[in-house]
Amino acid sequence: MHRLPSQTAVTRFRLASLLLLAACVSALSAVGVLGYSMYEQDKFLMIIGVALLCTTLILVIFQLLVASRARCPLCLTPALASKGCSKHRSARRLLGSYRFRVAASILANGHFRCPYCGEPTAIEVRPRRAHEA
Ligand SMILES: [Zn+2]
Repeated sequence: MHRLPSQTAVTRFRLASLLLLAACVSALSAVGVLGYSMYEQDKFLMIIGVALLCTTLILVIFQLLVASRARCPLCLTPALASKGCSKHRSARRLLGSYRFRVAASILANGHFRCPYCGEPTAIEVRPRRAHEA
């Protein structure tokens, strides 16, 4: 199993995963609140729904920024960003998304399998070799 080169990379992967799931939850709740506010004709709920939509937009932008620099240590492809590259033949999805599977695996198990090269990576810093120290 591969490991990440630095603590910064570990933080990037965890943050990008959290932001991806938070953006998804925020988008779903925004749709729910907006739908309910239209059904109830409630302007206050509608303002909350629009605020949730803005929050979702901000979360998505931050996620794109963080995820674009969280690269797989083997193939150097950002595993949490949506690229047009072809996926590994054994790559699998969660809820129709390769990124969700990577994010859920990072948060739940502490490791992920890159959807592009298919190699497993632990979310921990690789030990330094003696001549590098
Ligand atoms: Zn990879």
